[in-house]
Amino acid sequence: MSFVVVGTFNLDSIETPQETRERIVGGSGTYCCLAASYFTHPMIVGVVGEDFPRDTIELFKDRGVDTRGLEVRPGKTFFWRGRYAEDPNKRTTLTTEVNVLKGYRPKMPEEYRDAEILFLANIDPELQEGILSQLRNPKLVAMDSMNFWIRTKPESLLSVMQKVDIFFANDEEVKMLTKESNLVKAGKKILERGPSVVVLKKGEHGVLLFSNDRIFGIPAYPSEQVVDPTGAGDSFGGGFLGYLDKVQSYDERDIRVAAVYGSVLASFVIEDFGIDPFKTLSMDKIETRFGEIQRLVSF
Ligand code: AMP
Repeated sequence: MSFVVVGTFNLDSIETPQETRERIVGGSGTYCCLAASYFTHPMIVGVVGEDFPRDTIELFKDRGVDTRGLEVRPGKTFFWRGRYAEDPNKRTTLTTEVNVLKGYRPKMPEEYRDAEILFLANIDPELQEGILSQLRNPKLVAMDSMNFWIRTKPESLLSVMQKVDIFFANDEEVKMLTKESNLVKAGKKILERGPSVVVLKKGEHGVLLFSNDRIFGIPAYPSEQVVDPTGAGDSFGGGFLGYLDKVQSYDERDIRVAAVYGSVLASFVIEDFGIDPFKTLSMDKIETRFGEIQRLVSF
């Protein structure tokens, strides 16, 4: 098993119509590695400041995450503030402070360089490119991004996209990137740019997977309890790639199963603020929900 994740390890302030939480742990790398840890031992690459809680790093280690590539630097951790509308699919970014990420040049530990799967989770695309070049011979490379980078560094993002096998995006990002309002056309436009699979995350409406000759879709788990949607996309990616690393196969069927596990992980993370759901989540609960989704779509 060898799965490297580069992403952000952040502090977030989250405003929902019901409640606000200040400076709780978040970040694409955080959600992704915790979700993947149910299937494999993810190796993480990223940077935090001195204010990043030590007990979260301990939680990573307890869950079998390899933290040798996580640097602690003088200064403040990347900070993000987001606000959700009554409709939890609608989110506004209020503040982005990159802090220790500014000027950070990731250095991958020697022990990570032979990894087979690389996930370039949402982070500055220039850093994604830098990390990609440090891996010797990855078999599967996936990437995710966010409207912030699509707006500020579109060229760098498109350059990384050409080099990856799987591209994850939500509907808003894909429309923004391709300037195409029809999602099917937008997915196909991305396939023309390099990736062989495009995974389109549509929040409570589920996920569509595009490959050159096929489209596959699954609904999201029908959740009654949506407290904080932050990290759903990253947990989806972590569950998806963690599962592929576990089964060591990237064929069509396994990719579909991976999408179901990704959806299951995302469905748990939105049930409480930040990373709290991971503190009590077990593999049994994951398998039960996997079965529920299976029954939901069989006819
Ligand atoms: P998601 O809800 O899966 O889209 O991811 C939310 C996470 O992304 C939050 O925990 C944020 O800390 C993190 N985040 C916010 N803005 C950025 C950014 N520009 N680059 C990387 N990560 C970010």
